[in-house]
Amino acid sequence: QTETKYYYIEPDEAARMIMKRSRFVSKHNVGHTLLIAGSKGMMGAAVLAAKAALHTGAGLVSVLSAACGEKILQTSVPEALFIADEQDSHISDIVLNRSYSAIAVGPGLGRHEETARAFYKLLGQIKRPIVLDADALNLLAGHTELIENLPKNTILTPHHLEFDRLFGKNDTSYERLNKAREMAIRYHIIIVLKGANTAIITPKGDVLFNSSGNAGMATAGSGDTLTGMITGLLAQGYHPIPAAILGVFLHGMAGDLAAEKDSQEYITARDIISQIGQAYKKLH
Ligand code: AMP
Ligand code: MG
Repeated sequence: QTETKYYYIEPDEAARMIMKRSRFVSKHNVGHTLLIAGSKGMMGAAVLAAKAALHTGAGLVSVLSAACGEKILQTSVPEALFIADEQDSHISDIVLNRSYSAIAVGPGLGRHEETARAFYKLLGQIKRPIVLDADALNLLAGHTELIENLPKNTILTPHHLEFDRLFGKNDTSYERLNKAREMAIRYHIIIVLKGANTAIITPKGDVLFNSSGNAGMATAGSGDTLTGMITGLLAQGYHPIPAAILGVFLHGMAGDLAAEKDSQEYITARDIISQIGQAYKKLH
């Protein structure tokens, strides 16, 4: 058993992680992000994740979703491309007809059995780390063989309920943190354990606590925004560990700026997204 290393993510460290955009960059080499997200009644999650990925710097964003999301997405995020499933209300098939720089699955996904089947099939095909959130995590629960075969450095972003559904019930947050460490090491994955002090656990078992963020971020869509941000960073070529760390820090910082501008009570996920630019600016 190796000794656990605990760190606290400071602003200057996050700042040092930011990769400078080349003067000659094109949208094709700052990453094509694919978000597999949304279902009838939860299309907002896909909208927020797509906006967050774009505002974090992803060059191209495609959303694969239930057909009912087409007009919603193309109207609210005209910058994003849309891939419609055959089904109106949920995703029933996931076909990767091109290569993507980064893929996330989960926000607003729902748990339809056809969606589950398509998701499991996708996991059998991918070879590079992806981001799994929300219902993607719920669909993984009880499928140890799928968790074992996740690409190394895959990023899981559970809140405490999703974590417990996935890895078993914990009575205290200390117990949960230790379990997360054990699982990150066992499966060679990155676990972003979300909450008031989000902890990022690396496949080596190191634990990094976030220092940004506030209680105003306990609001619908906040996590979907984080998923879009982390995936947008991955798509730009960030290694999964810095993508998770910088994504979490920027997300919290954008939330802090939003709370400063208005107030914690006022904040919704959209306000967090609207401050990503200012958060970058303060770190640059
Ligand atoms: P989700 O539950 O998936 O919407 O994710 C919620 C997001 O908001 C995560 O990034 C959490 O870290 C963040 N969050 C929730 N509650 C708090 C809090 N009390 N203080 C700081 N951040 C929070
Ligand atoms: Mg969530």
